[in-house]
Amino acid sequence: MVGMFFPTGGLDPLNSSDSLARQTANAAMQAATSQKSEIELLREQVERITLLNQALWELVRERLQLSDADLEKSAQQVDLRDGVQDGRMSEHPLQCPKCGRVSNSRHKKCLYCGLLFEGDAFG
Ligand SMILES: [Zn+2]
Repeated sequence: MVGMFFPTGGLDPLNSSDSLARQTANAAMQAATSQKSEIELLREQVERITLLNQALWELVRERLQLSDADLEKSAQQVDLRDGVQDGRMSEHPLQCPKCGRVSNSRHKKCLYCGLLFEGDAFG
């Protein structure tokens, strides 16, 4: 009788809900595995970028005779460019107080008039 409602092609209809649960579990495991791979991929990319960043800094430091203190000072200036000292470089539109045009906060100065964007002038 059950076979009328579940065209199972020879499978035991009593196990169909178990099979569905197993399929759902398998799909969930595949999704979790996929997410894990995505995280691993991102981790690898971050590690690669970190390595290249370190190599670039060491090259520039040597060639231009800079110090780690120079890098830290520059990082703080870039950090403050968006008006928040949070160790991150968020980007948002900034209206230049001099010419009134809009630039992006990642830029060091106004793209139009050249005014330096420094400190918390745009906070
Ligand atoms: Zn400007």
